[in-house]
Amino acid sequence: MAKLFSNIGQLVVGTSPDTGELELIENAALVVDAGVVAWVGSSANAPAADEFVDVAGRTVIPGFVDSHAHLVFAGDRAAEFEARMSGVSYSAGGIKTTVAATRAASDHELRTGLRARVQEMHRSGITTFETKSGYGLNVADEARSVALAAEVTEEVTFLGAHVVPAEFADRREDYVSLIAGEMLAAAAPHSKWIDVFCDRGAFDADEADEILRAGVRAGLRPRIHANQLEAGAGIELAVKHDCASADHCTHLTDRDIELLAGSNTVATLLPGAEFSTRAEYPDARRLFAAGAKVALATDCNPGSSFTTSMAFCLAVAVRDMHFTPSQALAAATAGGAAALRRIDVGGLRVGQRANLVVLNSPSFVHLMYRPGVDLVDATYIDGNPVYEREK
Ligand SMILES: [Zn+2]
Repeated sequence: MAKLFSNIGQLVVGTSPDTGELELIENAALVVDAGVVAWVGSSANAPAADEFVDVAGRTVIPGFVDSHAHLVFAGDRAAEFEARMSGVSYSAGGIKTTVAATRAASDHELRTGLRARVQEMHRSGITTFETKSGYGLNVADEARSVALAAEVTEEVTFLGAHVVPAEFADRREDYVSLIAGEMLAAAAPHSKWIDVFCDRGAFDADEADEILRAGVRAGLRPRIHANQLEAGAGIELAVKHDCASADHCTHLTDRDIELLAGSNTVATLLPGAEFSTRAEYPDARRLFAAGAKVALATDCNPGSSFTTSMAFCLAVAVRDMHFTPSQALAAATAGGAAALRRIDVGGLRVGQRANLVVLNSPSFVHLMYRPGVDLVDATYIDGNPVYEREK
């Protein structure tokens, strides 16, 4: 059953995460067969099909690939946000509030919250997303977090190394051993990735190195939270381990940028985190000038970036991180895919999955040009709608 999307005003076929260049077709059509893109071209040359979707001159872009999110949690930290915005600075310790609420929540509560956030992501045009554990911080609750995450995505990350929980404050080496041992063994069957928060107030370079090595030995692939709070050893570690992605990259030395540019590790920037903690934004021009691969992700989490809106992240990235609109779109599609080492998503070239978003605008630039306006009319995964705006 071939499905033809016709009368597309502007079609973004593909993007490049290291240059930010876009391949665009005006007055385009796209054919989906068996869930993948079977044909793209001018509307005038569109082949016959069994089903039709008239896009009525609107824009079609590849579904966003959100390579960094923390969706499995309970509780609310609006009070912390309010305090911070009233002049109290952010530290990693706020995570402990969410850990207490997550441990206390039933499976049903966690699953309900998780599914609601996945729906929000579909409404925002996200068609592939990664999600992490990291609010359980004991064997049972980390294992349950990754098991719940695996119900909604194949991109599940074990992040027992988010922070050292209060009960291990005086014996952090025991917590690192627990992560690398029993906790990893319990989480690995449901996980694809191992992650560690390598930063001030979280885990140091030696601890992070030990945890990543243990994860890789258990068959997981490495990624890392690096250089959010300071320019530490995170990037060096990321490149040494061939991490798919180094995430945050708020503080980068020239040497860090050189290392990233010479590697297969994607620099994933998280504008929502700087926005919500009123921190200084990194300058994406340094990364693009060096030739590094760049991704943008929501970092959706209850403490420091509680948004599922990729369009919001794009607008902030363009305004405050100096992405061009093309670079921002590339970073949130092909960039996110590269940060998950995926080539089947993040673009609409023939053979890629038909994950696409219909925007109520004549151009993708409206995503940044009209900040705060919901432009997503419909989101499709494998050619089937997962969200359609009510008429
Ligand atoms: Zn994160």
